[in-house]
Amino acid sequence: MAETQTATVTFGVFDETSQHESRVALTPDIVNRLRKVGVSCLIEKGAGIAAHYTDDDYAKAGAEVLDADTIVARADALGFIGRPDRALVERLRPGTWVIGMLGSFTDGDYIDALSAAGLIGVAMERLPRQLSSAQSMDEMTSQNSVMGYKAALVAADAYGSFFPMMTTAAGTIRPAKVLILGAGIAGLQAIGTARRLGAVVTAYDVRPASRDEVESLGAKFLDLGLDFSAGQGEGGYARALNAEEQVAQQTAVDEKAAGFDVIITTAKVPGRKPPVLLTARGVEGLKRGSVIVDCAASELGGNVEGSTIGTSVTDGGVTIIGAPYLSSQVPNTASNLLARNVADVLAHFVRDGRLAIKAGEELDDALIVTAAAAAADQTADATK
Ligand code: NAD
Repeated sequence: MAETQTATVTFGVFDETSQHESRVALTPDIVNRLRKVGVSCLIEKGAGIAAHYTDDDYAKAGAEVLDADTIVARADALGFIGRPDRALVERLRPGTWVIGMLGSFTDGDYIDALSAAGLIGVAMERLPRQLSSAQSMDEMTSQNSVMGYKAALVAADAYGSFFPMMTTAAGTIRPAKVLILGAGIAGLQAIGTARRLGAVVTAYDVRPASRDEVESLGAKFLDLGLDFSAGQGEGGYARALNAEEQVAQQTAVDEKAAGFDVIITTAKVPGRKPPVLLTARGVEGLKRGSVIVDCAASELGGNVEGSTIGTSVTDGGVTIIGAPYLSSQVPNTASNLLARNVADVLAHFVRDGRLAIKAGEELDDALIVTAAAAAADQTADATK
């Protein structure tokens, strides 16, 4: 970012805390960082408390601490962890920029509502992650890293024995056998954390490239004897398996799962319902006392058949924790990373002291998902 400029763009963040949300999309350090690119910050009272930032911390950093209505009236751009609900969308001023996880891959109606309200939607989920200049903006990577770390801790906490091997006067305790399904950003962090706790870790991913990454962390790669490499998805992502491949995968995973004490699942395919990797049959085959943490759990289902958000225990004594909110359970670090991601996206659009879209620019084309008239005007201005 360039040296300090006079603030001409106003950026606002609301209090998004709820039962499942403790993060905040702006932190005091980022207030300072944004001032240097000509952005002044407004934050709703109490927004950072759950992430351990007081109103005073924000005021000292130079932000104005305000009520939500004043932020709506004054902000040129708003940053969200998730996205504004429909009621808030109705209240926002046309021309306001809305930066967040907008759900643009799955919820076209919502994007239409943003467009109809004249808002400029910047969809964090569309970030071209392979672009090196965009890496500091990659919220999926930052939050999935936190999630994977926490998933291993939650699993260790719920497990009724040790993760490490321990030799005691009363006997030797064998280390926990942990299986990680999905070895992307979250899975690799879960591997590292479970290994640091002393577990013996095995991992599996549908992407052939992940074998080296898994092994480089000292874990074993689970060989299912299946090859899904043909038709690997774009940008290094997994592709969705067809029905036949899915059944073959589930059968193999179900069989192998029985040998493990703890299973952590993180498998997703961008823009789609998470694939079921472990079926009810596989869960039934686990030993009493086994623990599953399903990070892909959602209202649409997760990686484990029958998993729901929250904790349940099967008749066979297997604890299943459906845990999509784990990054929020490390709220301070998760907020620091997320706030930096959002701020760098905002800063990208600050051009000549104002927010503007540059048509044909890779990041602009990827991130802007609304076709608001205001956006079109800005494009015209920006390309003059
Ligand atoms: P994600 O959250 O969408 O998926 C998590 C993991 O689940 C992925 O590794 C995926 O392969 C796996 N998965 C999906 N379907 C599966 C199935 N049926 N069985 C087993 N595993 C399955 O993705 P992510 O973790 O955010 O990122 C995935 C990959 O994207 C990374 O490992 C990396 O290769 C790439 N990436 C690249 C960059 C970059 O170039 N800067 C940045 C971020 C991610």
